[in-house]
Amino acid sequence: MATEEERKKLSLLADDLASLENYIHELFSFSPLPICFVSPIGVVLEVNPSFEGLAKMKSYELIGESIEKVFNKEEIESLAKETLEKGSVKKKRMVFSPKEGGKVVVQAFTRAREDEKGEVVGYFLGVFDMTGIEEAQGELRSSQTALMNILEDTEEERQKAEEERNKTQEIIASLTDGLLVFDKENRLSLVNPQAESFLGIEKEKMVGKYISDLSRLPKTKKLFQLIGKKTISLFRQELKIGENFILEVSRAPLVVDKKKIGSLIVLHDVSREKIIEKLKTEFVSISAHQLRTPLSAIKWTLRMLLDEDLGKINQEQRQFIEKTYQSNERMISLINDLLNVTRIEEGRYLYKPALTNISPILEFVINSYKDEVAKRKIKIEFKKTSQKIPKVLLDVEKMKLAFQNIIDNAIKYTTPGDKVTVTLNYDKKKVVVSIKDTGVGIPKDQQKRVFTKFFRGANVMKMETSGSGLGLFIAKNIIDSHSGKVWFESEEGKGTTFYFSLPVKKK
Ligand code: ADP
Repeated sequence: MATEEERKKLSLLADDLASLENYIHELFSFSPLPICFVSPIGVVLEVNPSFEGLAKMKSYELIGESIEKVFNKEEIESLAKETLEKGSVKKKRMVFSPKEGGKVVVQAFTRAREDEKGEVVGYFLGVFDMTGIEEAQGELRSSQTALMNILEDTEEERQKAEEERNKTQEIIASLTDGLLVFDKENRLSLVNPQAESFLGIEKEKMVGKYISDLSRLPKTKKLFQLIGKKTISLFRQELKIGENFILEVSRAPLVVDKKKIGSLIVLHDVSREKIIEKLKTEFVSISAHQLRTPLSAIKWTLRMLLDEDLGKINQEQRQFIEKTYQSNERMISLINDLLNVTRIEEGRYLYKPALTNISPILEFVINSYKDEVAKRKIKIEFKKTSQKIPKVLLDVEKMKLAFQNIIDNAIKYTTPGDKVTVTLNYDKKKVVVSIKDTGVGIPKDQQKRVFTKFFRGANVMKMETSGSGLGLFIAKNIIDSHSGKVWFESEEGKGTTFYFSLPVKKK
């Protein structure tokens, strides 16, 4: 029989045990981690409320049942085996199947439990719901992938852009033309190697400078003064840089989205073309001079024959010699035209201007055609304004030639019975002369080329008229040199009106 004291001790021990059991039970219930206790053969012996929650089952639906109710058979068997062998397992990824269906990915933790004799009586199985974490990890992974993709794309784009930039730079560098780019503020931002070599100055000394600064550098002065002076954004002009070194300078605005972001200057070396052109002009000039002497000799010999200084000639002989004389005259006139053109091109066409009345000049030239128009039955009329016309500053001989070249065409390119009207007007600042004919006209598609060298209209070529195509080129040069203007209106088959104006300057 136990003594009073022993009974007390036992009762205290029982109390202690009861409170320990309570403590363990509460801890088990309180744990937010789903935990169960499983026997070595896989029967569920205990579950906590969190486990019930995860399994969506009450404890009575689980306890006494096989753990395979909520786990995949193979997975749980392998987990149990590992636990019983090693004593514990950590972070094993498994699939948990709640009652409602569906799958929950969990991480399983186990710990084997032994009794006092060291025999395994089961194992604790804790599961950690990984759904949210896996999703988050998945999202993280896909956003990482997306980020990587973006980075890769950006890198690819960057490489492409760099390749494009290198390509453009390569093209700019290998251009045979010089290239200069100015920004909005007229600061030089790009110079290619060819421009450096044209200007004979390294780009480091130019880039970043304003046009005004560059206009002061001795080597680049000429070019940048020209560029700086021009207010119009588009232009093309030749510039002599040195002996036999001529650049054609063109400027175009750089426009992006309709906004001007700067301007581009292209330097094109035209020295070779200019030398060839000069040689050609020289050749024509020398040949024309050489031809003039024999043609004059022929002219005077023919004249003597016609005047019968060398003896009598019969009618037939006279006709032949007359024809030869006319042909020779045409040749002389062509040679004169060519000489005038070469003088214009070489800048040797000199003017002796004087304040002159233009009206007598016009009358003189018109009168010189009296016989010709009578022969061709063409009427020629001179209309003069009643206003007093002031004198103009002009070179009489040259102006005669210009007017003659224009009126000559009006007469030549009309048919018998046609009419040529010359008018002279004055409008305060300028004297305007018009020469109107009712002749063949100039075809629309060829009108742009009328004042160029050697131009002859397709329609007049069919007519039996002689011409070099130099007359209007010379006339325009003469009028331009008097600061005047020449233009025309023409309709094929109806007629043409040429106009020229000369400024009235107060001396
Ligand atoms: P050309 O020696 O041929 O007359 P121009 O330089 O004087 O040379 O004229 C060039 C061309 O312009 C002519 O060949 C002709 O086709 C055309 N032209 C000039 N004036 C007239 C005009 N009044 N009527 C018709 N065509 C004209």
